[in-house]
Amino acid sequence: MNMSAKISETIEDYLSIMLVLERDQEPIVGARLAELIGVSPPTVTNTLKRMARAGLISMDEKNGTHLTDRGLEAAKSVMRRHMLTEWLLSPMLGWSKTHSQAHSMEHTVSDELEIALKNDLENPPVCPHGNPLPGFEDVVADWKPLLSFPDGSEVTIRRVHELAEQNPDLLAFLEENQVMPGNTAKIIKNLPFNQTITLEINHVAAILGYRVARYIYVTPVSLTESTG
Ligand SMILES: [Zn+2]
Ligand SMILES: [Zn+2]
Repeated sequence: MNMSAKISETIEDYLSIMLVLERDQEPIVGARLAELIGVSPPTVTNTLKRMARAGLISMDEKNGTHLTDRGLEAAKSVMRRHMLTEWLLSPMLGWSKTHSQAHSMEHTVSDELEIALKNDLENPPVCPHGNPLPGFEDVVADWKPLLSFPDGSEVTIRRVHELAEQNPDLLAFLEENQVMPGNTAKIIKNLPFNQTITLEINHVAAILGYRVARYIYVTPVSLTESTG
């Protein structure tokens, strides 16, 4: 039953990115994978062929590229191991550095360690960046894009999307500006013509470009919460 032992680290990296794309209903295309993984398009093509031969993905002209049931199970397993490892590391490393460390360690997490981590961490529904563990997608379903709120709104930062986790400079910038899950932000000014949104978090202003802001999901701070 343990087929994950045969899957290489490279393929596990592809699987976790494909899981995110499929979940968000983004097409799995070579150019996008090349950009996200940081390799050349021919390398992607070769890896996709290997994955198809291993029965992890299906590829055809008409329906595009998709995870098979086997690929989906393997992808969920990598994602769970990744996110649990992030929780393990975050108290020691700091929020912005956990993703890349967990990314190199996730491949060596055994089934036994995965279960131990899950129990010890009390089955967390999301990772330290607010992204859902497989099976917990409902938990984040009501969290709204930051850019959908008007100026003057008070919001709680909930989530920085998985695809932003790929960029360590971006995470470090967000951490420096305290744009992290759990923090309250006031929207000072959204300037569509300038593609920037200015937030105030803990009395400090943070200016985000839309490219970064689009990765951030929030919930409104209700009146009772803010006055109580
Ligand atoms: Zn991560
Ligand atoms: Zn994460």
